[in-house]
Amino acid sequence: MLRCPYCKISISTRTDVCPLCHVRLTDVGNSKEEIKRTPRAYPQRASLPPLSGNLFDKVYLLSWLSLSLAMITAELTVTAHVRFSWISVSLLLYIYLLFRILLRGSEYFPQKVTVHAILLTVVIFSLRGVLPHPEIIAEFLLPVLYLVSNIAIAVFLAINYKRPNRYLLNILTVSLMCVIPFLALVILDDYKNFVLSLATMIIGLAVIVGTLLFRAKTIVSELKRKFHL
Ligand SMILES: [Zn+2]
Repeated sequence: MLRCPYCKISISTRTDVCPLCHVRLTDVGNSKEEIKRTPRAYPQRASLPPLSGNLFDKVYLLSWLSLSLAMITAELTVTAHVRFSWISVSLLLYIYLLFRILLRGSEYFPQKVTVHAILLTVVIFSLRGVLPHPEIIAEFLLPVLYLVSNIAIAVFLAINYKRPNRYLLNILTVSLMCVIPFLALVILDDYKNFVLSLATMIIGLAVIVGTLLFRAKTIVSELKRKFHL
């Protein structure tokens, strides 16, 4: 048994210092062998796999930042505008967040769908400069993305209909996003084929109205909880 002569206590777990006065136990008459013989009272922390956690984040984000700056600067110098480097910059960020939030994160499914929809929006927007017909972004790509996301959350809600509270904010977010493509077409004054984006907006608005009608109280309390009001 280890002892601290200052505190006059016996210590029954393996430690180098007295838990009360923090004196080094080998300095006050306990041998190293004695310390080694004493069993640990609690399990040792398991070692983390290499490149997990913060180190991976730091390495990836630092490489991403320097690579992005290099690509944008290079393209700006050569062509005087930024088109192709945006794609790589957003794709690299997309891959990182896909790995970090969607595959390894502990978020629940509707949250993942919402984050994924936002991420893909950024990637799709980065294609604007290189697509032969950039208007298909608002006419086709974004409406499909938001519709699929909305359906995915709706299906999840239908399965978990008993506890919908946490997921309501996600379906509201994605439904609000459904309005973006049509608004973009109207603002850009470039609507040749607006059927899909209009339909997406109507579905989004219908979901918003329905959610607000039936779950307004829950949404308010969820918002308060989320933002600590
Ligand atoms: Zn002590």
